[in-house]
Amino acid sequence: MKFSELGLSQDLLTAIEKHGYVEATPIQEQTIPLTLAGKDVIGQAQTGTGKTAAFGLPILNMIDTDSNQVQALVVSPTRELAIQTQDELFKLGRDKRVKVQAVFGGADIRRQINGLSHGAHIVVGTPGRLIDHINRGTINLSNVKTLVLDEADEMLNMGFLEDIESILKAVPDQRQTLLFSATMPPAIKRIGVQFMTEPEHIQIAAKELTTDLVEQYYVRVRDFEKFDTLTHILDVQQPKLAILFGRTKRRVDELTRGLELRGFNAAGIHGDLTQQKRSQVLKQFKNGEIKILVATDVAARGLDVSGVDYVYNFDIPQDSESYVHRIGRTGRAGAHGTSVTFISNAEMDYLKDIEKLTKKRMLPLKPPTREEALAGRMSVAADSVEAVIAATSGSVDSEVIDTLVEKYDAKTLATALLGAVANVSEMDAEFTLSRERPLPRKRSGFGGGSRNGGGYRGRRDGDRRGGGYRGRRDGGRDGERGQRERRSFDRGARTGSGDRSQRGRSGAPRRQSRDFVIKNND
Ligand code: ADP
Ligand code: MG
Repeated sequence: MKFSELGLSQDLLTAIEKHGYVEATPIQEQTIPLTLAGKDVIGQAQTGTGKTAAFGLPILNMIDTDSNQVQALVVSPTRELAIQTQDELFKLGRDKRVKVQAVFGGADIRRQINGLSHGAHIVVGTPGRLIDHINRGTINLSNVKTLVLDEADEMLNMGFLEDIESILKAVPDQRQTLLFSATMPPAIKRIGVQFMTEPEHIQIAAKELTTDLVEQYYVRVRDFEKFDTLTHILDVQQPKLAILFGRTKRRVDELTRGLELRGFNAAGIHGDLTQQKRSQVLKQFKNGEIKILVATDVAARGLDVSGVDYVYNFDIPQDSESYVHRIGRTGRAGAHGTSVTFISNAEMDYLKDIEKLTKKRMLPLKPPTREEALAGRMSVAADSVEAVIAATSGSVDSEVIDTLVEKYDAKTLATALLGAVANVSEMDAEFTLSRERPLPRKRSGFGGGSRNGGGYRGRRDGDRRGGGYRGRRDGGRDGERGQRERRSFDRGARTGSGDRSQRGRSGAPRRQSRDFVIKNND
């Protein structure tokens, strides 16, 4: 649907056009008219579907620029998302001269105070820093007409419920409340009941959005081969821009270190890094200076980077919704993407649950051999060499060159050159990951889940949103959870044996487990 049919003012329609948006996305189409009509709205749609503009456009439409008061407050779970939202609102509202101020922790509060005192119309902030400003009296929220809880599920996951409640107390009761979220766990519905007035619930089904543009593979690996399999796959697939998900902060740090050791251009982000460092890494990733972004779910949530062609789930996510968010980082804006999910035998049930949600089968991917990985590296090296040859104008007269040419034949020289460019020695750099505690087994035995429909999901969601598990996940889970023993293994023996065949190892019963019918819940 065209934006012009949604009731937005002409100056905004011009801004939208300048911004390059042609058609409204489904969540925009369905929520913008309701928001403009002053209704409380709960909007649920998958990550990457334009929820920011869905609330941003009607808010910009309603802002009175003759006033210098804060008229809208957007609460955002992370600094990155707050900045991203500020950017988008700023761009869309520039012609209308709407002032947008972001406030978040880890940045100079005085500058934010200064910005606020110069009359921001819209404030986008993270919960902690917003409360800080409220307590200091450096933000006046008494004229807020619209409050947005953005990425609400993630805010709850991060334990911000109490903070949100305090923020809600600081804004007028007479207000419009909008809530946007990728998933709708019961705790969010409760917020809707408690803090919103007869909210309209708009839900865009995930299946329309998830997976159609993403080719999804899974690869079965044993724990000790996981990292080698990863680097082999990277060598074969040669992603232009990839995101690699690890379950914990420690995992992200280790994976980054290991990849660097093997010659990959990688950097990690997670919640323990400073704001400055995270912004820097993201910027480099967006510019393509960093090719592989290693991230935890929370750190990568909602980030909008175009051109990501591969998503690797080095650790399968515990809940299926996270999987959908993760692979939603690729296959964006009509481009095709590929995802590869690593799973151990004990995690097969998680894979089946994901398939149930996405209603799509993942295809098995055979772990590449070292030879295939080497071939991948070599072909990239050959391209670089070709490029260098093309760029080398004229001949360089040098005795050194003459000596080399006399001494070696062309093949020997080319082999050496390619080997050097491909940095083959890095490929086998010894690296051992700490063991992650495996995910708890879901059910007894394989295949038992096929008959197990909604009941089990409900139970799991209950667990997850209950807070206990989250606490563990975001808190000390990187450290004391045991299982820290390091396992090394003999690379030579393994590659020499040629025993990479999953089939040979895992035998028939497990393959059979792939054949059970995935039940559709609709
Ligand atoms: P979400 O909050 O749902 O995860 P975002 O608001 O971050 O999604 O939007 C994802 C991307 O889609 C952004 O790059 C945004 O600029 C772009 N986008 C939003 N609306 C449209 C539209 N109507 N047409 C094209 N691109 C859009
Ligand atoms: Mg968003």
